[in-house]
Amino acid sequence: MVNQASIHDLEGNVTSGCVFCRIVARESPAEIEFEDEEVLAFKDLYPKAPVHLLIIPKRHIESVARVESADEALVGHCVRVARLLAERLGYGERGYRVSCNTGPEGGQVVYHLHLHLTAGRRG
Ligand code: AMP
Ligand code: ZN
Repeated sequence: MVNQASIHDLEGNVTSGCVFCRIVARESPAEIEFEDEEVLAFKDLYPKAPVHLLIIPKRHIESVARVESADEALVGHCVRVARLLAERLGYGERGYRVSCNTGPEGGQVVYHLHLHLTAGRRG
């Protein structure tokens, strides 16, 4: 497990030690599939299914274990974007998986909250 050091600004926003914050800031490359004011979605670098996207809040939240009541709308919006992308890619009826690894024993490697959207493979 690599636990990235997080460097927060005064608003608790950009954290230059975080790979996903760097993608949000366009300081690291990614194949971006969706963006709005709150959320970014991009292709997983090491896809584990024919469709494998990561949906992240642009604002740095470490993990589900750090989600607070003020984050509820944002996290809900991430789920809606997962639905939107799955439907856009033709998996609305066939089905897809939205998952979120949390913490060391939950398999989380990148400590910036992200939903995995995988589709196109059974199991
Ligand atoms: P997790 O185990 O849920 O923390 O998953 C992190 C995911 O991020 C893995 O599936 C990685 O393949 C993916 N990943 C790591 N770095 C990048 C990156 N720079 N661009 C896209 N995906 C990445
Ligand atoms: Zn981050």
